[in-house]
Amino acid sequence: MESTLTARDRVGVQDFVLLENYTSEAAFIENLRRRFGENLIYTYIGSVLVSVNPNKDLEIYSKAHMERYRGVSFYEISPHIYAVSDNTYRAMRTERRDQCILISGESGAGKTEASKKILQYYATTCPVADRMSTLRDCLLQSNPVLEAFGNAKTLHNDNSSRFGKYMDVQFDFRGAPIGGHILNYLLEKSRVVHQNHGERNFHIFYQLLEGGEQDLLSKLGLERNAQKYQYLVKGCCPRVSSINDKNDWRTVRKALTVIGFHEDEVEDLLNIIASVLHLGNTQFGEGKNGENQITTEPQLKYLSKLLGVDGAALREALTHKKITAKGEEMISPLSFEQAVAARDALAKAVYGRAFTWLVVKINQSLAFKQNNFKGSSSVIGLLDIYGFEVFQHNSFEQFCINYCNEKLQQLFIELTLKSEQEEYEAEGITWEPVKYFDNKIICDLVEEKHKGLISILDEECLRPGEPSDISFLEKLEDTLGGHAHFVTHKLANAKTRKAVSREEFKLIHYAGEVNYSVNGFLDKNKDLLYRNLKEFDMSPLCFPLFDEALVRHQVKYLGLMENLRVRRAGFAYRRHYETFLQRYKSLCPGTWPNWQGRLADGVATLVQHLGYKPEEYKLGKTKIFIRFPKTLFSTEDSLEA
Ligand code: ATP
Ligand code: MG
Repeated sequence: MESTLTARDRVGVQDFVLLENYTSEAAFIENLRRRFGENLIYTYIGSVLVSVNPNKDLEIYSKAHMERYRGVSFYEISPHIYAVSDNTYRAMRTERRDQCILISGESGAGKTEASKKILQYYATTCPVADRMSTLRDCLLQSNPVLEAFGNAKTLHNDNSSRFGKYMDVQFDFRGAPIGGHILNYLLEKSRVVHQNHGERNFHIFYQLLEGGEQDLLSKLGLERNAQKYQYLVKGCCPRVSSINDKNDWRTVRKALTVIGFHEDEVEDLLNIIASVLHLGNTQFGEGKNGENQITTEPQLKYLSKLLGVDGAALREALTHKKITAKGEEMISPLSFEQAVAARDALAKAVYGRAFTWLVVKINQSLAFKQNNFKGSSSVIGLLDIYGFEVFQHNSFEQFCINYCNEKLQQLFIELTLKSEQEEYEAEGITWEPVKYFDNKIICDLVEEKHKGLISILDEECLRPGEPSDISFLEKLEDTLGGHAHFVTHKLANAKTRKAVSREEFKLIHYAGEVNYSVNGFLDKNKDLLYRNLKEFDMSPLCFPLFDEALVRHQVKYLGLMENLRVRRAGFAYRRHYETFLQRYKSLCPGTWPNWQGRLADGVATLVQHLGYKPEEYKLGKTKIFIRFPKTLFSTEDSLEA
C-alpha cells in the first residue's frame, strides 16, 4: 500500500494546543522533532513561542521574511519570532500600552539570538522618525559591544551572556523608534580572575590581543599571546573554533565609534582592559624582612600609567589595608593570600565599573533627546538574561543566575495565566481555573525577608565574630531545615546523603535539582574590596542537529507541558467574529457568500454546520472561543505546509 504523508504528519502542528495527545511529553517532543526536521524551529503554545536552536544559519531571517510578517495574524502564517515581534508592536500601537517580551531557556538555548532578531525586525520594519536614523544603528551596535564585554565562552555556550539585560525601545505615536535604555544586571565579575576548565574570560580580552594593532598593544604594554596572562589561562582554552576574535575586534571597534565613543574614551576603556591583565600578572613574594611585597615591577609601572595613579600609592594599596581600631586609622600589612585576594578584588571592581560605565555611555547615545517632542510614546521591553545552568561544580554565580531564572519562570506562569483569565473575563466567558505548580515556594525560600537564603547570607556577612562559609551553611540548616526544596548532607536521609557533600546545599528548583558549594559565598556576596582600594581614585562546536535529551530537559524545565495544560483547559482557539467569518464562511452554505445578520449568529451558524457541539465552544462579546479546534486548524496547517 502506498503511504502518503499528510502535511500534518510531516510538519506536525504549528500550535501545541492542537496536539490530540496533549498531556503526553513524548507527543510534544515528537511534534518538535518533526518540525525541526523540516527546519521549522518555531511552534506556538497559544501566544507563547517555543523555539528550538538550529545551531546553523537558516534562510528565514531575510528582509522579505520580515515583510511577510508585517500586520499578519499569528495563525495565518507559520510561527516565527517575527510574528511575536510584530504582534507585540501592533498591540503596543493599538492598545497604546507598554509591552514586554520575555525570553527564557537554558544557557545556549538561543535567547540572545532571539532578542537580536527582534531588535533587527524593529530596526528594519518600523518607520524612522525625523533625525533618528542614527538611533537605529546605535540600537543594533550596542549588541556587539555589550557581548564583547559581558559574554564569554562557557561549557554550555561559546557566546554565553554573563549578565542580565533588560532593554527598552521607546516608540513615538507613529510607531517610530525614538529612544532606548538598557538595564544591566549582575555581571559575573568572578570570571575576570577565574575561569573553569574549558571556559574563557570575557571576549574583549582575546579580541584586543588578537585584533589590536601592534602600536596599541605596545602602548598598553601587552603581548599578543593570551597564554602570557594569568587571568586568561585558567580555563586552558585561549581559542574557540566558532569564534574569530580578530574579526570580532574590528566589529567592536567600529560599533564603539558608531555609538559615539570618542577616541579618548575608547583609550580609557582599553587602558582598563589592559590594566586588568597586568593586575593578573602582578605577583607577590617575601621581602628582605619577611614582609609581603610586589615582585613584578614592570606590571606595577604599567598599572600606574594605565590607571593614571601614583605607583607608590598603588603598591601600598595592594600590600596593606586600612583598618579603624578604637577610633584610630591604622595601616596593617596584608598576608600573601590577602594580597592576592585584594588584587583579584581590584581587578573585578575595575572591570565591573568599566562595564557599568559602558552601559551608561550606550544609554546616553540611545536616550531620547528631542526636547520639543509632543505626543505620547510607548515602550517595548526585551528581557534577555543568562539561562538556567547546572555544572558539575556550582557556586554563588550559578545560585544568582538560577534564582533569576526561578523568578522569571514565576513571572512567565503568572503572566500567561493572568492574561488568559483576563481575556475570558473581558469576553464574559466562564471557565474553571486550572491547578498548576507555583514556584513561589522556591522564590520565597531564596528571597523571603529574614528567613530566606539571601537574608541569612547577608546577616552572616555582617555578623561580628568569625562568620565563615560553613557557619553560613549551618545557619541555613537551622533556619531552612525541613523545607521541601532545601537539602544538605546533614539534613538528607541515609539514602540521599551521598548526593550532597558536606560543603554543599541542594536546592530543588522548578527546573531541577542543583548542588551549590558554599565555598566563597560570603566573600562573593560581600564583593570584598579593602577600604584603601575602594578609596583609590580610578577614573561551532559539533552540535547534533535535534538533541532529544536536551530538548526533553528544556520542555520540562520551562514548564511547557504545564503551560499547554493550562492553555488546553480553557479554549485553545479564539478569534474575532468578523475575522472568523471572513475566513471560514465558504465552508458553510448558510454563511456563504455573505452573512447578513448579527456577526455572533453567523459564527454560531458556521460552527454548528462544522459539527461543533454547544459545549465545545463559547460565544464571547466579540470573539468565538473553541475548546479543541481540530477541523479549523487542520485547514490552517495545510496553509503553512
Ligand atoms: P546564555 O544563557 O548562555 O546566554 P542564550 O540562550 O542566550 O544562552 P544564544 O547565545 O542566543 O544562547 O545562542 C547560542 C548559540 O546558538 C548562538 O551563538 C548561535 O550559534 C546558535 N543559535 C541560537 N539561536 C539561533 C538561531 N535562531 N539560528 C541559528 N543559530 C542560533
Ligand atoms: Mg545569552
